[in-house]
Amino acid sequence: MALHGKNIVGSSLLGADTETFQAINPATSRKLEPGFHNATQAELDQALELADRAFGSRGSVEPAQTAALLERIADEIEALGDELIERCGQETALPPGRLTGERARTTGQLCLFARVVAEGSWVDARIDTALPARKPVPKPDLRRMLVPIGPVLVFPASNFPLAFSVAGGDTASAFAAGCPVIVKARPQHAGTSELVGMAIQKAVAATDMPEGWFSMVHGPGRTTGLDLVRHPVIQAVGFTGSVAGGRALFDAAASRPRPIPVYAEMGSINPVFLLPGALAEQAEGIAAGLHQSMTLGVGQFCTQPGLVIALEDEGLDGLLAALGRLVRETAPATMLMGSIAQGYREGTDELEACTGVELLARSSQAPDPAKTQAGAALYATDAATFLASEALRREVFGPATLVVRCRTQEEVLDVARKLEGQLTATIHAAEGELDQHGQLVSILQTKAGRLLFGGFPTGVEVCPSMNHGGPYPATSDVHFTSVGTAAILRFARPVCYQNFPESQLPPELRNENVRDIWRLVDGMLTKEHVA
Ligand code: NAP
Repeated sequence: MALHGKNIVGSSLLGADTETFQAINPATSRKLEPGFHNATQAELDQALELADRAFGSRGSVEPAQTAALLERIADEIEALGDELIERCGQETALPPGRLTGERARTTGQLCLFARVVAEGSWVDARIDTALPARKPVPKPDLRRMLVPIGPVLVFPASNFPLAFSVAGGDTASAFAAGCPVIVKARPQHAGTSELVGMAIQKAVAATDMPEGWFSMVHGPGRTTGLDLVRHPVIQAVGFTGSVAGGRALFDAAASRPRPIPVYAEMGSINPVFLLPGALAEQAEGIAAGLHQSMTLGVGQFCTQPGLVIALEDEGLDGLLAALGRLVRETAPATMLMGSIAQGYREGTDELEACTGVELLARSSQAPDPAKTQAGAALYATDAATFLASEALRREVFGPATLVVRCRTQEEVLDVARKLEGQLTATIHAAEGELDQHGQLVSILQTKAGRLLFGGFPTGVEVCPSMNHGGPYPATSDVHFTSVGTAAILRFARPVCYQNFPESQLPPELRNENVRDIWRLVDGMLTKEHVA
């Protein structure tokens, strides 16, 4: 399919005679055809107006139709075949194996949300029947459920061009909740975005969804993105990227006359605590796992373990020797884009300039800037330096890890207390060893959205119990996850109906349980009808 470079505005393709931009192949630094048109104000207005109208007509959209939409999008993405993998590879330098896996994850999560919607209990229906004879005042009939929040704006991630992009988790969960979506596409993978955007446009038409249920526009985040966030039609925002970008959008949303939620997944250094027993037993094995996790995808994962904390002893020496060897042997590799490679260079330069931080190892081979490459790096510091320096607690996005050597267990706890909010925190301990470190677990519970015992934080399962979130700055809203079925809750809000006539209630709240969903009726979870 020849790429057209236009904005997808409902069922139309619009690209007024404006200046165009091109995606760049990071492996060659060459521009890729074609040019893409940034959306004009008129085109943005049209996308917003259509989304508003589409949401107004949502009463006619049944859960089965939403489920069909999600499944059809998955089918249309599959139908793109190798063309999608090839274009995405050119725009991101991610290898075909990774992209094929990511496509499966993308279609898998669309189908998972289709099942959630078809099953229906996610609306969390609660019914408290009336007690007219209650003294001193009668109890009214109260029925509550979740309803869609309204048109959602999605800012895709650079590091997951499929699974966190145009048809990624934010879009899938917003559609599942019953919301129209406008995507502000990533310029770096504009061609990939167009292919997937066209797949969604086709699926919207094929499943008779209202015109404007989906639009995808091009334009800079600092102008187009902020204008969209500030527009009264937009009711919520999904974002994955830097703290600076997420915070700019969050602040813009908060300063609207009517503020809206921004669900931004941002910075995390994912600390890994290695207790002495674990290091004594398996320093080499931990080094191999840590190396794999820190360099996976050239370190471009929000769950990359950027920080390791351990007590100084022989076990730690063994780990550092083994990890240093692996880091030196790591070949430099192409990052997603020039600005990320530059950010990584600046971040590692800053680490190296920091008094008290020692470079233990780096890739022996020098990275090639023409290929947007980065090498791996391993640093070490002591607890006092780490505790005194805010710079050491910032994310360095890429294949670098800083090890904090602690002299006492109290220092380990001080480091844990000093951490900012994290997506994950990992503890390695020998059998029974954790029993003496309950305080560490208690501290980490206040810091991270997911606690791992053993293993490494990269690899985020898409399932109902996943929490991919955490206290600021890991995310802008600690209550929610952006991965897994609970991500749908970001794009819904509760409404309570008091003493409403049965005929006017949504089907989910009527006496007869027509949707056959789980409901909390007078405090009991049941699928029974209300008597
Ligand atoms: P980014 O710079 O935050 O960009 C993400 C999106 O936000 C883009 O659409 C961008 O617009 C927009 N944006 C950025 N700054 C903005 C501002 N001040 N006002 C309005 N919109 C703004 O993220 P990135 O380009 O993906 O990567 C840059 C850095 O982010 C990385 O080096 C890394 O540190 C971090 N990152 C973190 C994660 C994570 O999961 N934790 C993932 C990816 C990246 P444009 O489309 O115009 O660029």
